[in-house]
Amino acid sequence: MGETFPTTVNGPGKSYMIHLQGCNLGCKQCFNPESWSFKIKKNVNTEELADRIIAHAPDSLTISGGEPFLQSAPLLHFLKYLHGGDPNNCPFPRGVLIYSGFYEEELIKMTEYQEILQYVDVIVSGRFDVSKRVYDSLISSSNQNLVWGKRKLIKEEDVCNQSYEIIVEETGLKLTGFPHEWNKEIIKDLKLVGVEIKN
Ligand code: SF4
Repeated sequence: MGETFPTTVNGPGKSYMIHLQGCNLGCKQCFNPESWSFKIKKNVNTEELADRIIAHAPDSLTISGGEPFLQSAPLLHFLKYLHGGDPNNCPFPRGVLIYSGFYEEELIKMTEYQEILQYVDVIVSGRFDVSKRVYDSLISSSNQNLVWGKRKLIKEEDVCNQSYEIIVEETGLKLTGFPHEWNKEIIKDLKLVGVEIKN
């Protein structure tokens, strides 16, 4: 669906974030409904993508969606290629983080899950439930969990803050991270880059 580099609010340090297109989990007030469609927008070669990410030397890699585990076979290939097949050979000093709408008990049933977990430091897991909204970590609602891999490149303090970024791109503005709402703070920040929100 897209790539963002750098982002400092979706993963540790300067993170390279990729969004995989397609999600059928239907959370109410999903922040990214344009990611739901399964219509192919762009086919990406996993090895070319991995090479491009490594060339940017990010501190960490963040994989989001859509729902990344709906493409778990190419996701595993991508992660293996990035690590040269060795989970201890992570090219990112501050690790790999995945946002998934699946709960751990659902992930465990997936064929590639255990192998993917070897290449991942933490998964933010579970549907977004707007009635249980929380604001104190990379978890967005209190029903979600952090699933830690064996590797410990990401620390708890790396996932304890929520913030948001407004990224100015040639084609427009991108709002990413964890904006509380279209509150006064965001409206004021947008005004600084010349964008006025009208009711
Ligand atoms: S799992 Fe994520 S992308 Fe899918 S509907 Fe829920 S919040 Fe949106």
